[in-house]
Amino acid sequence: MAFLQFLGATQTVTGSRHLLEVGDYRVLVDCGLFQGLKELRLRNWDRFPVTPASINTVILTHAHIDHTGYLPRFVRDGFHGDVYATPASVELSRILLPDSAKLQEEEADYANRSGYSKHKPALPLYTARNARDALKLFKAVGYDKRVDLTKRLSFEFVGAGHILGSGFVKFEFTDDDGSVKKIVVTGDIGRYDEPILNDPETVTEADYIVVESTYGDREHPDVDVKDQLAAIINETVARGGHVLVPAFAVGRTQQLLYLLRELEDERRIPVLPVFVDSPMAVQATRLYLRHEEDHDVDMQRLMRAGRNPLATHAFQLAKSRDESKAVSAAERSTIVISASGMATGGRILHHMRRRLPDERNTVVFVGFQAAGTRGRRLVDGEKEIKMFGEWVPVRARIERLDNLSAHGDWKEILRWLGGFKRAPKRVFLVHGEPDAATALKARIEERFNWQVEIPNYLDKFTV
Ligand SMILES: [Zn+2]
Repeated sequence: MAFLQFLGATQTVTGSRHLLEVGDYRVLVDCGLFQGLKELRLRNWDRFPVTPASINTVILTHAHIDHTGYLPRFVRDGFHGDVYATPASVELSRILLPDSAKLQEEEADYANRSGYSKHKPALPLYTARNARDALKLFKAVGYDKRVDLTKRLSFEFVGAGHILGSGFVKFEFTDDDGSVKKIVVTGDIGRYDEPILNDPETVTEADYIVVESTYGDREHPDVDVKDQLAAIINETVARGGHVLVPAFAVGRTQQLLYLLRELEDERRIPVLPVFVDSPMAVQATRLYLRHEEDHDVDMQRLMRAGRNPLATHAFQLAKSRDESKAVSAAERSTIVISASGMATGGRILHHMRRRLPDERNTVVFVGFQAAGTRGRRLVDGEKEIKMFGEWVPVRARIERLDNLSAHGDWKEILRWLGGFKRAPKRVFLVHGEPDAATALKARIEERFNWQVEIPNYLDKFTV
């Protein structure tokens, strides 16, 4: 007997954790943190629904925190098996998990100082030490390499095209009756024809497919993101202003650098000083250059020609706080890319405080802006924003580039599903808000006539 159980990312986009049981062997695919709404975040503090020590192995589809960020707690609570991830995911996790631990520690610290916690003292969900312990369990496995977990259960990663190191997990196991079954768990599905990364790999066969559905009800706008970016930069330079881009350090920052470098090469924008002001983004950019196994043909061609595809002509990485301040004080037009992507914290706030009051400047949002964040307020047109305890007037232009998403839209998900040569027995939709999952279910049923399930939290299915 084999079972699939959904321990997270059910009708929501965070907390990815899916349990596969084959006989008495248990594999957890992803070990994500719940983020966003308070009711979900509180779930991080609940006892894990399955005893962590009873799980043999964890496999990570990619390094995003909503797929990995629970792992330090999980290890603290008794898990001690192997954690398999692709080589790039292992290295990205070495950056992202300690950073997540630091945020947890800072949050507990803040709760203690401001006295808002019911618990005295407030403790972090996990510590930097827990994150280090978790990282010791990691084992790197490249794409297309079969790993035998037991005599009857194996898996391999194939490229998902979502972020550096992202992979779909393809399982194969022999059931009690001797039949061979295949299960594919997507993690997040990337986009086709994007810069830097390969397209999502086609998978042709599976009995069960667990599919993400973040953009199950949306279509990415049919506009050229490079045209938009060029227009924004040229208009800002004509006014004598600066361009500020709040961007997540892993993925979006590298995509932007690639596009800016292309626009400079094509002489569609002037060569401006481009600053990446985020220590994490600087580290992640190095990994993006080094992991050739993820590069698409254009990226490979540029690298072979000795070009750095992620460096513009006047490119600087700001590492220290002093360097960051110097960037912020520059007189001539600059482009500054810094974290966090939703302006909830990080060095971007210092740049914003200086640049928002001047109508010559532009702030460009490149990712989804969640409710309640400064990014969302700015996108919604608020004229004053609070930061560092003071109100900052918003006179700069606020723009958004919606087309830089790392998730495929419904058309791209259907395109990927179209690669399967025979109908699966069942498709499970996870990692999507209810509207998105429901819309995608209808589209899959209409196009392929497959059986589609939208699991609830803790639902368990025989496979
Ligand atoms: Zn992701």
